[in-house]
Amino acid sequence: MKKVVVYEPRPDEMPLFQKFADELGLDIKYVDGVLTPETAAEAKGAEGVTILGNYPVGQDTFKALSEAGVKYIGLRTAGYNNIDREAAKAYGIRFSNVTYSPYCVADFATMLILMCIRKAKQIFYRTNAQDFSLEGIQGREMRNLTVGIIGAGRIGSIVAKNLSGFGCRVIAYDIVERDELRGLLEYVTFDELLAESDVITLHTPLFESTYHMINRKTIAKMKDGACLINCARGAVVDTEALIAGIESGKIGAAGIDVLEGEEDIFHYDRRTDILGHRQLAVLRSFPNVIVTPHTAFYTDQAVSDMVELALRSLVSFIETGESSFEIKN
Ligand code: NAD
Repeated sequence: MKKVVVYEPRPDEMPLFQKFADELGLDIKYVDGVLTPETAAEAKGAEGVTILGNYPVGQDTFKALSEAGVKYIGLRTAGYNNIDREAAKAYGIRFSNVTYSPYCVADFATMLILMCIRKAKQIFYRTNAQDFSLEGIQGREMRNLTVGIIGAGRIGSIVAKNLSGFGCRVIAYDIVERDELRGLLEYVTFDELLAESDVITLHTPLFESTYHMINRKTIAKMKDGACLINCARGAVVDTEALIAGIESGKIGAAGIDVLEGEEDIFHYDRRTDILGHRQLAVLRSFPNVIVTPHTAFYTDQAVSDMVELALRSLVSFIETGESSFEIKN
């Protein structure tokens, strides 16, 4: 039986690990908590490990994995910017991500767009406090708006598809323009998108080229009162610039599912802790900002896809030395 080590198993993943382990003939060892230089030793005797995509895997962890005999990492996430690619290369450890249902994130982003333009946070808060007044909660109609999608890939293109029923204008900026999307959206330059969008929704990966793509300069080019949705990666947005944009009113609303410095916070119950993440505290305090803890991916279909494809990728690596999900270094 092929041995695989699962780091950070969540309770909702357990029945899926059991199901796919039986199907694929795997002997699974579960390690609570994240993969670190210390916990890497737990993988001794396994060629493959699977992890999630938030906690950094750096030089020291790769060294420890290599000493434990691990050759492959199968991420159960689409994002893999937590992997130090140079270190992976240096220790000859290959890794893969998963491409699960893009509908989960696309639907969530669509929901955040609607919640922001209809001021849902205020409506919920007030209703809970038995304040049923109308003042200050007037929304806008989608059909009157222009939505700008930055990164019209697997997820961004489904957002465009979702939006097609609302009658809004949909524009997109992407470094690769795809002819098959031209019926759903209109490609524009980055500056045109910033200037013309009432709502901007981010769907690029986090690369050097997209790091702090939304910053003080690019926010200054936006329409007054623009709404910003980030379901991509926290660091695509310069959080200080976002806060300044909201404080000045330049940004009229924001829906933030991902945030710089979220790693030890999102997906954990931290109710009784002093968080020490001031930007999160400030963002949460704004009446026009909805913060969700990196939950856009979290559907039944996506979690099943993530577990199944990460395990299949590891099996393929171990049996053939190849995986169609490999991120080539
Ligand atoms: P994808 O690769 O299919 O699409 C990304 C698109 O961005 C591509 O069309 C690409 O050409 C474009 N792009 C790349 N660099 C660009 C740049 N500098 N400027 C403009 N466009 C650029 O990826 P996807 O499956 O659609 O996922 C997008 C991102 O969503 C992931 O990388 C991940 O960071 C994020 N994500 C978030 C969650 C969540 O729960 N919030 C879940 C899954 C994925």
